[in-house]
Amino acid sequence: MTNSLAGSGLPLPTQADSDIIAIVRQLCCNRDKIAELMRYSQVVPVWLLCLAAGVTALFVHRSHRLSIGSAAPIRLWLRIALMMTLTACCGCTGSHNTASQTVRSQDTAFQNAGSENFEARFPFHQQTTYFDFRLQSESPQNARTIRLSDNFVDIVKRDFFNADRGYPIRVFICQDEGKFVRFMHRDLEIQDPSDFGIYLFSKKLLATYEDSGLGTFAHEALHPLVEENLPQRPAWAVEGVPTFFEKFYGYWNGGQLVLYWGFQNPWRIRELGPELTQLDLKRIVSENGRPEQSESKLRMAAMFLWEQGKLRRFLRLVAANNRLGYATYFEAAMGMSMWKITPIWQSYLENIERNRAEMLSLPPSPQARFFEMRQSFRPS
Ligand SMILES: [Zn+2]
Repeated sequence: MTNSLAGSGLPLPTQADSDIIAIVRQLCCNRDKIAELMRYSQVVPVWLLCLAAGVTALFVHRSHRLSIGSAAPIRLWLRIALMMTLTACCGCTGSHNTASQTVRSQDTAFQNAGSENFEARFPFHQQTTYFDFRLQSESPQNARTIRLSDNFVDIVKRDFFNADRGYPIRVFICQDEGKFVRFMHRDLEIQDPSDFGIYLFSKKLLATYEDSGLGTFAHEALHPLVEENLPQRPAWAVEGVPTFFEKFYGYWNGGQLVLYWGFQNPWRIRELGPELTQLDLKRIVSENGRPEQSESKLRMAAMFLWEQGKLRRFLRLVAANNRLGYATYFEAAMGMSMWKITPIWQSYLENIERNRAEMLSLPPSPQARFFEMRQSFRPS
C-alpha cells in the first residue's frame, strides 16, 4: 500500500500498530430515543380542593450500554487494548496548551446553582474553545477526550455543516460508570442506569464517564450542534446525524487530527438482525408522523447518504431549508424521488447482508482497515 490516503495527501502510519495514533476507536454505544418524559406530580390534601400536577419534559438522548461481541477473538481485543493505550499516551502528551489548562474549580456555583449544585462533584474545570469541561479526575482518558474535542468540532464545521452556534457545550465527565449512574439518578433525575452517555436538552449538558469512549462523546456532542445549527432538520436526523458521527477512525498527524468516516457499527448491524434487508427507507426518513425510534435504522439511512456521496449535500439543504421541490430532504439530497431511491437502497442493504460477517468483525489490522478505507474514500 502507499503511504498516503487517496485524495488527502496525508501520510499514513507505516507500522501496523505502533504508528496508528489516536482515535482508532470502536464505538460501543447504543443510543435510544430522544424525547423522554420525566414526570413529577404531587397531590395536596383534598380539603384544599386542589390537585397540583407538574409535568416536565426532559428531552434526552441516551447511549445504551451494549455488550461487545463476545465472539471476537481475544487476540483482537488485545490489539484494541494496545491501540487504546497508544491513543491515551498521545492524548495526554498533546493537550497542554496554555489556553486550556485544567484548573481546580474554586467551587464557584453555577448561575442557577439552586438546581445545579452538583458542580462540587466535578472539581476540575477545563475550558476549550467550544466546550466547558467539568471533570471528576485528571486522567489520560479525559486528556484524550479534551484534545479531540475542539479538533473534532472544527472538522465537522469544515467538512459537514456550519456550526457556529451553541457554545460552549457543557460536559460533565464522571470518573467511572458507577458515579455516572449516580449522577444521572441523583442530579439529572434520569432513571435508566444503562447508558454510556447522554445529552440532556433541557439542561443543555452532556454527561458521560471516562471509559465510555470517544465515539460516545462525539455522538453526544453532535446533538447540540445539530439542534442549534440545523433548526430545520427533519425529525429522523435528530438521531440519524449524531449516530453517523459516532464511529470513525483516524490519527494525529502531529497536532492535526485526521478522521475518516463511513464505517458500519458492528453492534448496530447485529442489532438489526434479520430485519436488515427489510428496512423501509421511506418510513425511516419520513418527515410526517412519528419518527423512527430505532437509532440503528436511522444510522443506516445516514450511512446510505454517505455512501452515495450525498450526506454533505443533505446537511447543506437542511441548513438552507431547501427541499428542492421534493417531499423530503432525503430525496432532495439524492436528487430523485423515493421510488427511484428504493432499489438503490435495497441493493445497498443486500450488499451489507452479503458482507455481514466482515461487518461484525473488527478489523484484524489497522493497516488493513486503512487500506479498505482508501477505496471507499476515493469518491468523496
Ligand atoms: Zn443520540
